[in-house]
Amino acid sequence: MAETIKVAVRVRPLIQRELDAGATIVVAIHNNAVTVDHGPQRRTFGFDHAYWSVDAKDAGYASQEHVNNDIGKPCLENMLKGYNFCVFAYGQTGAGKTHTLSASSSKGDKQMGLIPFVLEGLFTHHRAKFKNDELRIWISFMEIYNEQIRDLLNPGRDAPDLKVRDHPEFGAYVPGLTEAPCSEIADVKKLMDFGTKKRVTAATNMNAGSSRSHAVFTIRAQRLTGTKPGKKDRKSLSSRVNLVDLAGSERIAKSGADGLRLREGCAINQSLTALGLVIKQLAEIQRDGGKKGAGRRKSTVDEQTKAIPFRASKLTFLLRESLAGNSKTFMVGAISPASCSADETVSTLRFASSVKRV
Ligand code: ADP
Ligand code: MG
Repeated sequence: MAETIKVAVRVRPLIQRELDAGATIVVAIHNNAVTVDHGPQRRTFGFDHAYWSVDAKDAGYASQEHVNNDIGKPCLENMLKGYNFCVFAYGQTGAGKTHTLSASSSKGDKQMGLIPFVLEGLFTHHRAKFKNDELRIWISFMEIYNEQIRDLLNPGRDAPDLKVRDHPEFGAYVPGLTEAPCSEIADVKKLMDFGTKKRVTAATNMNAGSSRSHAVFTIRAQRLTGTKPGKKDRKSLSSRVNLVDLAGSERIAKSGADGLRLREGCAINQSLTALGLVIKQLAEIQRDGGKKGAGRRKSTVDEQTKAIPFRASKLTFLLRESLAGNSKTFMVGAISPASCSADETVSTLRFASSVKRV
């Protein structure tokens, strides 16, 4: 069974649209707890980390650098030891998922998101620290849109029917997906920019740039340790990191969806609903762990997870190892502090709490 999934919640500053609408701040954090005033109710949820970004002077304020140190550093360390890692960002459109994962390093090193941070770390710090190592990096970038996988690094070939397959040793993978070798951060930047432009975005009433697809950015690393190639003490450590920018979790009713938008909404919800269900069942197994099987042959957690419907959506099939396998996993729940988003904020915090129990 996976170790517990760590959960962080990040509150972004008010944005212009909210300020213009006269929104007030209804979210507060204390240590690692998040409180929301939702109508007459005050609700509090506890997490592994709670980050505030509204005002740098406030307690709990976390810069991009701070978040990278909490999540990106362990990710890097795990990769170099040959362990898998996964970060997924959940929240309504405009809540800060992409900012946390992908903000580009052109805004300055301190502003970059987790993806450039981890890759920069692999290229620079690793090389300085382990001079005799050889490190090979490949990246791939796909989106899941309407339950179809598109290769964002090779959209021209546009095989809309890319499938998820199960490999007995490496787990779920997508045959035919481009894996681009990268040897410096400039390569990564080019590929990220290219892929990001290809992401399907469709205007909804919520937000003109609202993204209706899940984007999965994968870094595969192979580290050859030791002295010289061919020497006996040379070890090969492989790891795979998935960084997942989930589609907006807002309920479609609010965005006035109809026709295509509605169909999209269903498919998006199919993946997000499946994710919610899988997480709920994992939490139940975790909670009942050890209790079951008295007097009978004890069913292992592995056997129990077999019954979990990971294949109900492309997303959960792909993330199976991250949710229940040998991967360290972080979820970042992104929320707005604004009164007008209180409904969505509570729903994101509920989801994040259910993940915390896994
Ligand atoms: P999402 O990907 O969830 O739709 P974005 O990451 O695009 O949302 O964020 C929406 C806007 O809010 C962007 O302009 C982004 O720069 C800003 N933003 C998000 N999170 C933060 C933060 N922690 N600090 C400052 N600005 C943020
Ligand atoms: Mg986004």
